[in-house]
Amino acid sequence: MEVTYSSNLLIEENNEQQNLNYQKRNVNQKSSFPQQTQENWTIQDSQQLYQIEQWGEPYFSVNEKGNVTVSPQPESANKLDLYELVESLKKRNINPPLIIRFLDILEDRIKRLNSCFYDAISRYDYPGNYQGVYPVKCNQHRHLVEALVKYGKPYNFGLEAGSKPELMIALAMLEPDLTKENNEDAPLLICNGYKDKEYVKAALLANRIGQKTIIVIEQLEELYLILEVIEELEIKPNLGVRVKLSKKSAGRWETSTGDRAKFGLTIPEILTVVKELKALNLLDCLQLLHFHIGSQISSISVIKDAIREASQVYGELINLGANMQYLDVGGGLAVDYDGSKSKFYGSKNYNMQNYANDVVAGVQETCERRNIPVPILMSESGRAVISHQSVLIFNVLTTSDISSKIPEQVDKKTHQTLVNFWETYQSITLKNCQESYYDAIQLKEEALSLFELGYLSLEERAKAEDLYWACCQKILQTIRGHDYLPDDLLELENKLASIYYVNFSVFRSVCDSWAIEQLFPIMPIHRLKEKPNQLGILADLTCDSDGKIDRFINVMGVKNLLELHPVEERENAKKNPNYLIDYYEIKPYYLGLFLVGAYQENLGSLHNLFGDTNVVHITMNDQGYQIESLVKGDTIKDVLTYVQYNVEDLIETIRRRTERALQANKITLEESQLLLQNYTQSLRSYTYLVED
Ligand SMILES: *Cc1c(COP(=O)(O)O)cnc(C)c1O
Repeated sequence: MEVTYSSNLLIEENNEQQNLNYQKRNVNQKSSFPQQTQENWTIQDSQQLYQIEQWGEPYFSVNEKGNVTVSPQPESANKLDLYELVESLKKRNINPPLIIRFLDILEDRIKRLNSCFYDAISRYDYPGNYQGVYPVKCNQHRHLVEALVKYGKPYNFGLEAGSKPELMIALAMLEPDLTKENNEDAPLLICNGYKDKEYVKAALLANRIGQKTIIVIEQLEELYLILEVIEELEIKPNLGVRVKLSKKSAGRWETSTGDRAKFGLTIPEILTVVKELKALNLLDCLQLLHFHIGSQISSISVIKDAIREASQVYGELINLGANMQYLDVGGGLAVDYDGSKSKFYGSKNYNMQNYANDVVAGVQETCERRNIPVPILMSESGRAVISHQSVLIFNVLTTSDISSKIPEQVDKKTHQTLVNFWETYQSITLKNCQESYYDAIQLKEEALSLFELGYLSLEERAKAEDLYWACCQKILQTIRGHDYLPDDLLELENKLASIYYVNFSVFRSVCDSWAIEQLFPIMPIHRLKEKPNQLGILADLTCDSDGKIDRFINVMGVKNLLELHPVEERENAKKNPNYLIDYYEIKPYYLGLFLVGAYQENLGSLHNLFGDTNVVHITMNDQGYQIESLVKGDTIKDVLTYVQYNVEDLIETIRRRTERALQANKITLEESQLLLQNYTQSLRSYTYLVED
């Protein structure tokens, strides 16, 4: 399939304005609305529309049934039909919203990261090694950290803790090796973040049980804290320093570096550390230099600059007599959320191999020039390791569409405004579209004024509104597919877009979409043989107008509307002939939100008390897949307990109330039992909606 990456064209190379790539670029919908007809729509069209081959490769694709497939082990032919998986989970009463974690993808990511560094090392004849760590903050869930430690073992992959609770996780999860002198060759445990004495003691004592902990000094004060603990425990530490690089980073996290960065030591502060350690005869403890220039670094040139500066600092520290062993390049290795391979903030203009090459070559060059031994290279790549394994699946509850009914002819005897409106509607052509649009807007305003003055009845006002939307629909149908249309007509796509109400909370499950406008790929996981001929936004379950998604990945920049399928009537749905409108229950329609494994789960909040979603862990074996473990999502009882309600008290209150109502003859005994049962049952249920 031929795909052109035009997004690069939008960003001019401009060093002074590197942040251009963080600007929001909205592109008119006309460029993306699929022109193919329903009959000649193919699976390839769906693949291209949702860019799944670009952001999903090599894990996600579409099969001939029109369903999204997952290849958790890309090197094997084993593929999973995601839609069928969700259906089979539902039969086990595991309902959406649901996170599916593919542990084999995690294994593959770790393998890839290490292979890229090993390849770079052999390519440049780098006389050192690579030893990565996983920053626990990216996703601390036990099943994942356990899997990471297991899969990381062949590569001596370690963990990075950024807080005391994370240190407690890392200390217990990493398997120590007591056979080696100085814990040689053990996976590393990098101790970052704010520290107190308790933290430092834990890190130091862990060396005695075979953990290779390196305490990284991020603030000058920490040095003195550490020195006090060393004196008290008489254990020699492995120390590192985090340097504030002067080079500006780029993108969302650009303030992670530079003079005003929150963490890290300035060059004068690093010199102070060296002098203090030297005076105490402890300079041989200083072994590691660390920097972290922010997450999701979209541009490779930023990484190269940082490596150049950091490797010089590393060389200087050797000159000053420190026993340097490790250079830790931190996080920042980006994920291509929109698949555009550009330096747009939701993407990256390099791949993992380019990254490894640049780290290895950059350090190698400096060390050769300075004639110093090369360090063991480390990275703390979180996002790049953990994002791909998680998929969030949710269902559409209902949609709200502007009616596309053809309005009835207006009676000549009704108000002249309505007659004019009808005539405007009738006479819409491609030539007079713009004019008709403004007529329709004006007539709608006119009808509203007439209503306010008492000249139009409620029936007549309803007619005017129907006519207005009918005009908009007709104009949109007329202009779709024609290029070079005035912007004011293009806004009609937004005006007439559907709202898809979906069964999850943006605040709980994709917090960054709301908080920092991060883009994630979203698409239906089935029906991809059909043309998605609706444009819509997603509205979540919360009663918050921010609880929506109206920014989607696009080949060029961002689009405001997503192409979706119309919801369908459920087979043998019960219909009530007494209803005026054709109300029906809908067939399940599932959407997937991809690459959500990093940060989202624990940044999420309990807004409106929507709790954790169900989580299943899937592993592959020769027979296919296996549900490794299930973590049930929160019940209503769970979330009420978080906010300090005692559910027994709540039930008791309701019981007392029903008794009082019974005595007052306001409720029957049966009704009171039904109410109590319902209340108790609800407390035990999922916080999200569950289909019958
Ligand atoms: C957050 C963080 C990371 C992880 O960054 P990614 O961009 O997700 O790889 C690594 N190191 C430190 C110090 C961090 O704060």
